[in-house]
This record gives sequence, structure tokens and C-alpha cells, in this order.
Amino acid sequence: MAGEALEAVIAGVNTLVTRLKTNPLALDVAYLSVITFAKEARQLVPLTEVSSFELPKLSVRTGTSLGAVLRALMQSIQRDVVKTTPTEKGDYRPLVFLLTDGQPTDEWESAAKELKKIRPKIANIYAIGCGLDVDVNVLRAVSDIVLMMKDLSPDSFHKLFIWLSASVQSVSAKPGGLGLDDLPMLPNIPYEVLEFPSQAATRDPNPRQVFLHARCAGTKRPYLMRFARDPLDGLYYAVASHPLEIIEAGDSNLLPPINSANLRGCPSCPYCLNPTAALCPCGSLTCSSPNTQDTIVCPSCNSTLVFGGRTNFDVKRSQG
Ligand SMILES: [Zn+2]
Ligand SMILES: [Zn+2]
Repeated sequence: MAGEALEAVIAGVNTLVTRLKTNPLALDVAYLSVITFAKEARQLVPLTEVSSFELPKLSVRTGTSLGAVLRALMQSIQRDVVKTTPTEKGDYRPLVFLLTDGQPTDEWESAAKELKKIRPKIANIYAIGCGLDVDVNVLRAVSDIVLMMKDLSPDSFHKLFIWLSASVQSVSAKPGGLGLDDLPMLPNIPYEVLEFPSQAATRDPNPRQVFLHARCAGTKRPYLMRFARDPLDGLYYAVASHPLEIIEAGDSNLLPPINSANLRGCPSCPYCLNPTAALCPCGSLTCSSPNTQDTIVCPSCNSTLVFGGRTNFDVKRSQG
């Protein structure tokens, strides 16, 4: 997740936390944990009382390791959630909000099967697809509760998180939490924000977005260029670029390359604002000034780039 959508999710989680911190019932019983998944899954915040929960910095990373995050989730629940026994009253069954904007980039099917096999269910999982890159069938394999966000505007994320906060608060107010047979769907779903996708959702086989890695010629720091597909002409138009902390090894070997003839425009470098990019024979993209007199040294392999007349070339794609 990158850009405006990531900012909106961070704002949304903060809204949720603020609401729970001011609700005495939730303050009493609710615990929160955050697990992120990009190239790998990380439990950023272990299960923590609402009163002391702080959201750490979330950064843009590439990849969508759904299998890894499902395994991390199962481990955390089995380790951290107290089970009810004949002699001891355990924790409420967790609510899990799984937000994803991409297609899985790891082996996820076995983890989804394992999760669905566990009886009684270890959690009520809301699988929430954010944007058109998400495959509804993947979400269905993970959970019975599948929702899709209609758009990714800050306002829609705000409404989503208000609804999620209400869901947590209503479970907190219920003695014993949600029973095993309770309908997990909670009321007042914001219809302008979410929809239940129909069983036979058809999919456009073309990716909605294309991501390319580049490095700044000046600072050598990596960034991610984002292009979105215009369904009318099928071409990918420059949207934005996002600073990256690192380029993860092997990231661009998983997707077929894209030919530059399908790309329109170029997002400027987020560090030095250079408006164009050049492709080095080593395969790396570097930001470049539009002035062809300037010498560019490839930040990846240090060779000097010469402007050639090639107009169509293949570029390695990165995961979103
Ligand atoms: Zn630059
Ligand atoms: Zn190079």
C-alpha cells in the first residue's frame, strides 16, 4: 500500500484507537495488535491493551505476503489469546480486519486452508479488499466475511474505520463477546463505502497498476513509481512516486516486464524532483534531468549513461 491510501489507513487506525480509548467498555476489554505484510509479515505491535497502544510508523514496502500474514495471525492467536476451559473464562474471540490492496505474492493457499479448517473458528475475520487489484476469490478463500471498498478516498477509509470501531465497541459491550453461533456481521455497514461482492465476480486479467523501482541519480535512494491503467485505452499513466527505504532483493523477478510503449508520462523523483527517468543497460531505472547534455551515472552500477534513441524497451516490474 502506498501514497494516499496508506496515509488514509494510518489516519483510520488512529481514529479507531482514539474512539476505543474514550469508550470505557472497550478500554476495559479490548486489546489490539498490528501485523503488516509486504515481502514478509511482521507483527509490529503485539497484542496490547488499548490504553497503551501506539501505532508505530508504517512505511511503503513492496509485495503482498498473504500466506505469511495468515501464519503469523494463527501463531499470535494461538499464543496470545486465552482459551476458555471448563474452569477458566478465556478471552473473547478476536475480530480480525484484514486489509489488502494487492494480489498475493507468496504461497498462501495452504495457510488459508489451514485457517479455515480450525474449529471452532479462532477469529471473526473481515477480509476487506481495497481497490481493483484485489481478487475477491482470494479473500473468499480466507474468510466468509468478504467486503470490497468502492473507492480508496480518505473519506471512505475514515467511514470504514468508524464502522470498524463501532464493531469493536459493540462486541466489547456484549458479555462474553461474540458467541460461536452469532452472526459475525455487525450492523450499520456503510453501503457507500463497502459492498459484498457477488459470487461470480469477473476479473480483468490486466493489472490495474504497474509499479517500477528506480533510484535517484543524486541521492542514490530508491523509490517506487506508480502507473495506473486507463480502461479505455489500456495504457498505464504516471500517477505518483513514493520513497522506499530499501529495494528488496529479487522483488522484480516475479512479474513479467512491461514495454515502455505501454507507459505514458513519468512520475518525478520524490527526492530531487527530476521529471524523467532513464533505463541503464544493467536493468535499473534512474531519475534523470530532461537536459540531455547532463551526464548521468547509474546509481546501481556506476556506469555512465548515454542517451540513445531507443523508444520501446522492456522495464522490470516491481510488486505493489
Ligand atoms: Zn532524483
Ligand atoms: Zn546501471
